[in-house]
Amino acid sequence: MLKSYFIHFAAHLSRIKSKLIDSCVFCKIISGESKATVVYRDEQVTAFRDIHPVAPTHILIVPNKHIESVSALEAVDEYLIGHLFTVAGQLANDEGISKGGYRLITNTGVDGGQTVLHLHLHLIGGQRMHYPMG
Ligand code: AMP
Ligand code: ZN
Repeated sequence: MLKSYFIHFAAHLSRIKSKLIDSCVFCKIISGESKATVVYRDEQVTAFRDIHPVAPTHILIVPNKHIESVSALEAVDEYLIGHLFTVAGQLANDEGISKGGYRLITNTGVDGGQTVLHLHLHLIGGQRMHYPMG
């Protein structure tokens, strides 16, 4: 009895999760269902230009796997997150902004200003960044 309740509950959670992924704008870009200016793609990550750039270079680097935010990261994701940064560094080189420098940002949760609930790294550069942050 209790076992069947948990099985139903797990199936319910899994349906909620797949609905969230179905409606995720970044998952749609990754799958090709929605358009974006994709600048890099491999088995683990996708990078595309931000639709509202705040600087000459503004690229979003996202894991292909739907992870809501840094708060949802698990130990198994550690290689993936390292790879996200390596790709960010390579894209900065390709954009010609490495010498001048750039900023990498991951907004997390409401107070962090996160508006798209699919973990992403903003690569922002091509101009002098402003302070203070926050
Ligand atoms: P954040 O506020 O940190 O969650 O960042 C979300 C970013 O995604 C914002 O900078 C948006 O401009 C950007 N964005 C939202 N929708 C799209 C889209 N369809 N294509 C490209 N960038 C997007
Ligand atoms: Zn997603």
